[in-house]
Formats: sequence, C-alpha cells, structure tokens
Amino acid sequence: MKIAILPGDGIGTEIVAEAVKVLNVLDLSFETETALVGGAAYEAHGHPLPESTLNLAKAADAVLFGAVGDWKYDKLERALRPEQAILGLRKNLGLFANFRPAICYEQLTHASSLKPELVAGLDILIIRELTGDIYFGQPRGRRTAVDGLFPGAEEAFDTMRYSRPEVERIAHVAFQAARRRNKRVTSVDKANVLETFQFWKDIMIEVGQQYPDVALDHMYVDNAAMQLVKAPKKFDVVVTGNMFGDILSDEAAMLTGSIGMLPSASLNDRNQGLYEPSHGSAPDIAGQGVANPLATILSVAMMLRYSLNQTEAADRIESAVSAVLSAGLRTGDIWSEGTKRVGTREMGDAVVAALVAQTGGKTITSITTS
Ligand code: NAD
Repeated sequence: MKIAILPGDGIGTEIVAEAVKVLNVLDLSFETETALVGGAAYEAHGHPLPESTLNLAKAADAVLFGAVGDWKYDKLERALRPEQAILGLRKNLGLFANFRPAICYEQLTHASSLKPELVAGLDILIIRELTGDIYFGQPRGRRTAVDGLFPGAEEAFDTMRYSRPEVERIAHVAFQAARRRNKRVTSVDKANVLETFQFWKDIMIEVGQQYPDVALDHMYVDNAAMQLVKAPKKFDVVVTGNMFGDILSDEAAMLTGSIGMLPSASLNDRNQGLYEPSHGSAPDIAGQGVANPLATILSVAMMLRYSLNQTEAADRIESAVSAVLSAGLRTGDIWSEGTKRVGTREMGDAVVAALVAQTGGKTITSITTS
C-alpha cells in the first residue's frame, strides 16, 4: 500500500503531521511519500499541482491531503491559484464520489446550533456526485437571447446533464456504502421539476433492485434541506447530484458544530481516494499550533476503511478520538467551560496515546517514509 502525503498550506502542514503520527502507531505496513501542493508548490515550482506531485498521487492507493490556499494568492491568475490543485487532482484521478460523513460525538452535542437531543449520536453520510451535473455541463456561457421572456436581451446559461453511467456508478457507491452501515439510502432529487433528476430517480430505482437488502427512498431537495435540520437522525446514507450535494453537505456539516471535526473522502471507480478535512487552510490561525487535527485524523480512518480495506484500524482510530473527547481534551474550536484546552500537537499526541492504550501499550511500526 502506498500513501501520498500532501500537506499543502497554512494549517495543512500542522494537522497532517498529527495524522501521520497516528498512521505511524498502527500495526500496518505501507509506504508513504510526501510532496508539495497548493501555494507551497507554487512557491517552489511555479505551479500549484506540479507534475511530480500529480504522478505521485496517481501512483498511490490513497492521498492524504491537508488544505491549500492563502489570501496572498488571491491576485494570481486563476490557473495558478492553490485551490486549482484540488480540482486538478479530482479531474486527473477521476474522483467522482465525494463522501462527507456528519457525525456528532455525544461529547460535543452542545457545539451544534441545533438542540442536543436532535444531534446527539448523529451519524449520517452524504454522498455527492462530484464530476458531473450543472457544474460541468456544456454548453454554458453568455449570449444574446433569441427567445424567452426578453428576446434580444443579454443572458447567461448553464446545462444540467447526467449520463446513465454517471448515475449508475454513484448509485452503486451509495448502496454499497449503505450495506456497511444501516442499509438505508435516501436519493435526493428534484424530479418534480427537472428531467435530469427524473432520469436520476429512475436509475436509482433500477440499481436499487440489485440491493434488495438496502431500503431506498426519495426526497425532493427542498424537503431534504428542511428534514436535515428538523430530524437529521432519520437519515443514513444520502446520495445526490453535484450541486444539491454541495449545498446539503455543508448544511449537514454544520449540524455537528465544528468544521474542525469533519473528514471527507473523494473516490474513483478503483477505490483510489483523496482524503482531507472538510475545512480549508485557515490562514487566520496558521502557525499558532491551535488548529484541530481531528478532521484530518478521522480522514485517515476513512482512508483505511474505503481505500485500504483496513476496517479494524479505522474503527480503532475513531474510538481513540472518542476516548480523547471523553477525557475532556478540546482544541479552541470545540472548547467549552469545564474541558481542557489543548493545542494541535497535544491533541495528536493524545490520540496516539489512546491508540497505544488499546493494545496494552505495545506498538508495531513498519512504515517507510521519503
Ligand atoms: P477555512 O475552512 O480555512 O476557515 C474557516 C474558519 O474555520 C476560520 O476561522 C478557521 O480558523 C476555522 N478553522 C478551519 N479549520 C479549522 C481547524 N482545523 N481547527 C480550528 N479552526 C478551524 O475557510 P476560509 O477561511 O474561507 O478559507 C481559507 C483558505 O482556505 C482560502 O484560501 C480558501 O480558498 C482555502 N480553502 C481550501 C480548501 C481545501 O484545501 N480543500 C477548502 C476550503 C477553503
């Protein structure tokens, strides 16, 4: 197994360092290689995604990504901005399935803006199709209208489209993920208005027939947005298109309180994946040693589960994170009265200590790094 480590910019380097520590105490054998990406790569090589970094990512079974970006790059031409590295990796690796779990640890229910009883124990998974839909559909552009309400007026247009294979493959991803969880899939669409999403719904039903052990239901996107804040625990796996998923996954993320807790994964059809926290490079706190590394550490758990087939190791990391929270340790973003405020490094060390404690103090390390 080969893991490409791309820390990136800002707090990216700080949080990835803690995640690598966690990898190092697991009883697993793999190779890691680190490369520059984002602003750091632009400074060194004049491009946010140098060919060497892209080749490393392509050759790896999984990519552990920190975050990229800094306000100082805002004036660069678009193609050279750090964030272009993420789009380049998604495109070149064919990462079409985005997984965003929204998990609310019992110990952090007060951090949510919803009532604790609505979010305590919340564990849902939003699966967003990542490479199609209106974000990529052609044609798009601006022109002079030849029909519509105002012929002759300037207008802009985009194209919403999905092909059958695109919908089928994300449907399989969702049903297979549900099999590893509570065996329920909610497909979110707008089939009452959009032809694209009637097509989406029809295919979800067809593919669902191959998974008789998984319950499938359908919800219009407007209702789904409402239900996510009314009764989020009713969901198990939510699958939807690129645009609806963009919006709903951020809504679901905020149910859990802090963005510093939320991992994510983007997978291709070979289960090769890019794993990263849901947040950005947080230039406002970079270099201070206060960033929460748990989203990145939980991204490692996702990487072990989805790309590296190491479910037991993934479970161990998640239970170590839970143990650390139960012990009352908190970074600033999740701190509250009565808990102990710690920095990035102390939080990483505490997760490592909890992992070591699970094995009665013994650790085996077999990792080569370069
Ligand atoms: P951000 O997610 O970096 O930060 C938003 C807020 O959350 C900030 O106040 C930050 O301090 C806080 N925060 C984020 N992660 C945290 C953590 N782990 N622990 C504690 N607090 C945390 O979003 P932003 O400020 O809008 O963007 C900053 C830069 O990151 C921009 O250049 C943006 O383009 C980039 N960005 C990158 C990614 C990515 O790499 N995937 C995603 C989003 C934004």
